[in-house]
Amino acid sequence: MERSRRKFIQTGAIGLAFLAACPSSLLASNDCNIKHPLMPQDKSLQGTCDNCGMMRPMWGRTWHTFVLGKDSKQTCSIHCLAEMVRNSGLQPSGIMVANYLDPHTSLVAEDAYYVVGSSARGTMSIKSKIALPTEAAAQDFVRKCGGEVGRFDDAYGAAVAALVAENKMIQKKRVAKGKIVEPTDADLCPVCGMHVARYPDNKCQIRTKDGEVIHFCATHCLFEYLQNGAKYRDTPLHPQLIWVVDYATGLWIPAKKANYVIGSTMKGPMGKEAFPFAARDAAGSFAQKYSGKVVVFSEVSAKTMLM
Ligand SMILES: [Zn+2]
Ligand SMILES: [Zn+2]
Repeated sequence: MERSRRKFIQTGAIGLAFLAACPSSLLASNDCNIKHPLMPQDKSLQGTCDNCGMMRPMWGRTWHTFVLGKDSKQTCSIHCLAEMVRNSGLQPSGIMVANYLDPHTSLVAEDAYYVVGSSARGTMSIKSKIALPTEAAAQDFVRKCGGEVGRFDDAYGAAVAALVAENKMIQKKRVAKGKIVEPTDADLCPVCGMHVARYPDNKCQIRTKDGEVIHFCATHCLFEYLQNGAKYRDTPLHPQLIWVVDYATGLWIPAKKANYVIGSTMKGPMGKEAFPFAARDAAGSFAQKYSGKVVVFSEVSAKTMLM
């Protein structure tokens, strides 16, 4: 009696430990084996994400289209939609989302039913957010694959709340794949000669089409190099990726999509800097606090920075 009770307790304990260790996505039924991303790619779907560059033929099941400012935009996911809205400071309109189970059909996002946190794989997201045409279809999906049924606002709110955490995860993957290379003690800024690793808040880098990685101490030297490359190198410069560090979150962000505060009273490693921010709002607050002006990549130069 005592032995069988102990055995029961032990088995129960293992079961609980398994439940605790097992992410909710593994607990849903196997009925949920839906091909996402689409492999082989569905070439009849066309386009690339305006935020992250991923392809619609693969990620079409979570595709969103919308108008931002005056431009039509498309993104791979509600994550990239939320990120574009935050970065631009503009409000989106006319949002359409793919029907997860039939990515050739688009739904008006406000009318769709979203399932958040099911075992469906996330696109740029830790918790997936997928859209279905009816409440019944969403409930049926939850029965098979877990998650919670909500409307667009629920899914969008979850995407906004998760942005920084998800971008940390995405950055880890980019570092692991070598798309971003952290500077080491040996890396010297080619413009000023300073040790780049000593400036973690200001560091920047260019990855050329040949795979060469050039580290800079700060935006001052990055823009000087981009605009006067011939002074510093013998071969022409062909940048493929340019990364700067978001002054608000400390995360690497694509330089061409960042907002910059120039002419502020804040000093960087080279004195005057263009301080990069992903979010337009964050750049605006910084410019209010330290004076200065919010501009985009094409408006920054070593010259405008000194003004
Ligand atoms: Zn994307
Ligand atoms: Zn430098």
